[in-house]
Amino acid sequence: MKKKVFILGLGLIGASLCRAIKNPSIELFGWDHSAETREIALEVGLVDQITSIEEAKQMDIIILAVPVLASLSYLQVLAELPLKASVIVTDTGSTKNEVMKIAKELPFTFIGGHPMAGSHKSGVKAGNPNLFEEAYYILTPFEESDAVPLIELLTPTRAKFVVIEPEAHDEIVGVLSHLPHIVAAGLVRMSDSLSEEHPRATQLAAGGFRDITRIASSDPQMWTDILLTNRPTLLHLIEEWQNQMNQIKSNLLAKDQSAIYAFFDQAKQSRDLLPAKGRGAIPAFYDLYVDILDIVGAVAKVMTILSEADISIINLKIQETREDIFGVLELSFKNQNDLVKGQQMIEQADFHCRIRS
Ligand code: NAP
Repeated sequence: MKKKVFILGLGLIGASLCRAIKNPSIELFGWDHSAETREIALEVGLVDQITSIEEAKQMDIIILAVPVLASLSYLQVLAELPLKASVIVTDTGSTKNEVMKIAKELPFTFIGGHPMAGSHKSGVKAGNPNLFEEAYYILTPFEESDAVPLIELLTPTRAKFVVIEPEAHDEIVGVLSHLPHIVAAGLVRMSDSLSEEHPRATQLAAGGFRDITRIASSDPQMWTDILLTNRPTLLHLIEEWQNQMNQIKSNLLAKDQSAIYAFFDQAKQSRDLLPAKGRGAIPAFYDLYVDILDIVGAVAKVMTILSEADISIINLKIQETREDIFGVLELSFKNQNDLVKGQQMIEQADFHCRIRS
């Protein structure tokens, strides 16, 4: 008998999981509250069938891929249904402490899950079967042996499965992912008011500022839920961040040159020791910036080079932010290998390109 797998929420994570695990040996069911998403999911063959939450009772594995607070509500609904005794329920939420507290009371096996791969894009159309490749997939089971059938199902994602305590998970991602998202959003909000005063600021924000604040483009609903379910950790981290800002502020007030130097020097030394390879808590981006002289003909030429080398890209944008003759073509690749190969091919055709804009 085929295993019945049910994915609730067919956005970036749900759709990517479907694309990675769908195969003839399982029967894949899906649900999303958006009728349009359900339609697309069927149309593109993401799932075998669309079904409703009531049908959870016939499923072997149920995956919640909705915003964290919606997952918590679904767990209460599932707790009222006559699920199979052997069912495994998991979520994909970016916080684990709160869901695991609720899971203690549930009448079925629950395994917290967090695939640490993502994108600033969301929705069903962003689904990508390679999204989880080489990424850490955190699991927080009560019993490690419970996770075996789930890992078996998720093996085609080619993720690296790691078991971590929920509290440790939330602290780590709080520092490495949640606080940086809050800071990025704050910086972009500051630049909004700057643009009102100095209209040129938007144009100047195109390069590095746009890069370092890229994560501020993530889905606001998802981030509201993440903050509300990692509240104690984030309140503490925001206080630590304020201490850091207060430190540099008082150094600046005192014109304390050596303290200001030390602030940056310590950060540089730690930053230089961070691992350069591998995928971490924030998705990495594989972007290449190509200077374009004659936009129409040159863009087509670059695209031909890539397609002849069988290198696909996931996004393309033309920045016209520079005041000299160049436009800049921004290409986003799927992985580091494609990026390196793409850069070599494009440079061989005498285009000037670089990894940072
Ligand atoms: P997403 O692209 O916005 O997908 C979520 C999907 O669930 C959307 O189609 C959404 O529809 C739908 N949805 C929302 N509430 C629902 C409900 N109550 N019932 C049924 N469907 C509902 O978000 P995602 O990036 O896939 O995130 C899903 C989960 O994975 C979240 O818990 C998030 O914390 C976690 N996660 C995200 C990332 C990332 O980088 N994106 C990485 C790891 C883990 P509408 O958009 O129409 O509301």
